[in-house]
Parts: sequence; C-alpha cells; structure tokens
Amino acid sequence: EWAERGAAKIVKEVVNPETGVTARHVIKKGIKDFKFGEVLGDGSYSTVMLARSIDSGKKYAVKVLNKEYLIRQKKVKYVNIEKNTLQRLNDGRGIIKLYFTFQDEASLYFLLEYAPNGDFLSVIKKYGSLNQDCSVYYSAQILDAIDYLHQKGVIHRDIKPENILLDKDMKVKLTDFGTAKLVEKDETTQTYNLLERSKSFVGTAEYVSPELLNDNYVDYKCDIWAFGCILFQMIAGKPPFKATNEYLTFQKVMKVQYAFTAGFPLIIRDLIKQILVKNPEQRLDTLQVKKHHFFKDTNFHDGSVWDTDPPEIAPYKI
Ligand code: ATP
Repeated sequence: EWAERGAAKIVKEVVNPETGVTARHVIKKGIKDFKFGEVLGDGSYSTVMLARSIDSGKKYAVKVLNKEYLIRQKKVKYVNIEKNTLQRLNDGRGIIKLYFTFQDEASLYFLLEYAPNGDFLSVIKKYGSLNQDCSVYYSAQILDAIDYLHQKGVIHRDIKPENILLDKDMKVKLTDFGTAKLVEKDETTQTYNLLERSKSFVGTAEYVSPELLNDNYVDYKCDIWAFGCILFQMIAGKPPFKATNEYLTFQKVMKVQYAFTAGFPLIIRDLIKQILVKNPEQRLDTLQVKKHHFFKDTNFHDGSVWDTDPPEIAPYKI
C-alpha cells in the first residue's frame, strides 16, 4: 500500500506547443527531493519536522515514524488508519492535507501541509480566552470541518484544541486522524451510516463523550460533544469537564457536571446546553448547530467561513 520505497509517483502533463500533444511524465518524488529542517514537535510515536522541497522551495511538515517502534508498540494499524483517512479527506478545506507518503528501511514518512501558526490550544492559552467574534470565526470553521468529515464517512473521535492546527492565514486544519473511524458506504443508498456504532477506543479525558464512558460505544455525535467542549473553552479558557485526575474528569463527564463562568454569553450558553446532552440522540447534530442563533451572521453555504479574514485575537471580557 505504501508508495514505492522512498518514492511517490507524480504525473506531470506537458503539452507540446507545436503538436498540441499532451505527454505524461511520471516523476518520482522521494526523500531526496526534500531538505529536512527543525523539529516542529513530537507525537507519541512520531517526530514532525519542517521539510522544504528542493525543487519548488515549498514548505511541508514531515511526520517521521520509526517502523521498528511501530511494530513493537502495535501501532501499525493506527498509522494506516491515519493515512487512509487523510487520503479520503484530501479535498477538504479544514483538514490538513497529505501530499505524499514514502518509506525507507527504517521509517515511514508523511509529507503534510505545513501549519505555521501552531495549534489552537496555544492560542487559547496565550490569550486566556477568546472574545465572541473570535469564537464565532474559529468555531464556524471547526464545525464546518467536522461536518465535512462526517459527510465523507469519517468520525474523528479525538477532536481537541491540540488537534486543531492553524495555517499561515489562521485557517483551521484538523489533524491527528490515527484514532478516526472510517465508515463504509451503504451499497444501495450510497450514503455513509454514521450511526454505525464503534467500540473500543478512548480519546482524551476532557473531551470524551459520556456514551463512550458508559457503554464504550460511540457514533458521530461524539465529535459534536467535543465541539461543545471546545466552544466552552474558548470563552471560559478551560474545558467544561476538568478535574485533578482522569477518573474524576470521567465522573464529571458522566454526570454532565459543569458550570458556566460568570458573564458567559447567554447565546453560547444556550447552544452549549443543547450540545452537552448526555443522550447522543438528543444532542444537536452539525446541521442543527449551524442553524443556531450563535451563527446567525455566518453563512455556511457561500464559502465565506473559509474566505473571511480572521478577526484580531482578543480575550473574552465580561
Ligand atoms: P499523538 O499522535 O501522540 O496524539 P500529536 O498529535 O501531538 O501526538 P503528531 O501529529 O505526530 O503528534 O504531531 C506532533 C507535533 O508536531 C504537534 O503537536 C505539532 O506541534 C507538530 N505538527 C504536527 N503536524 C504539523 C503540521 N502539519 N504543521 C506544523 N506542525 C505540525
């Protein structure tokens, strides 16, 4: 399944100006075509580095995974899920783009779109919280990206601020699809059944949905739950369910025990109350969230969610 050792095929079409005939040249891209730079970050089983194409000068983030380590830690499955998911989502605006995959004796390489503005958690931490304009802007993109991946039959299952990267224009790019669930298409209806429930996974304590803790099953509504937690965090500066340890956090999630901070905007309270609902069937879905009054000035149909310039970042003030 992986591209030929150290190479990925790129087909370049060249039109002969005299004859008008199009010739297709197969160019093999490999590690040798990139210059590796600084380390951008470390994952639990990968290192991400800056890489620059020697040909074009274009910057990429290259995720390097050690094969021996992956096999030893039984993580091969997750790497394949990540690759397959990113390939399925490759035309989505709010999803980090996977350009090439290579391998050599020791490692697997993911050539990813470079997101130079870091992750969304760092933004929230830097400013403490975000004002309503910023919350509308970023949450609209996060929601639209979630809607897109659900339409493509993908449930992310670990949406959290660290997994939301920001590109050079401060546009949202969802990443970390290693624990995603790819839903198969129904042959007759040609649609994805997102209610297909999947087992055996735990995401991140603060953003995990009660249904996963209760019966260990989740469907696409777990991503909306996480969205609600993140929207809360934008205003409050911290996620709604947070305790000194994971066990206590899980207790709070199961009881849906959270409190709005003083001065929390009523309109966002109203939306969050309809998202942080224990029963996933009664929880709003992406379409219903998009229709909420909080997004009354947001047009999800004309591309403006992605084309509008970001507002200046400022914290929320009561
Ligand atoms: P884990 O897989 O253990 O949850 P992670 O999601 O942090 O960890 P990676 O996806 O391997 O792991 O990313 C490691 C770090 O590299 C990230 O925290 C981020 O700082 C940086 N990084 C990842 N992808 C990009 C990218 N496309 N552009 C810029 N920086 C990136």
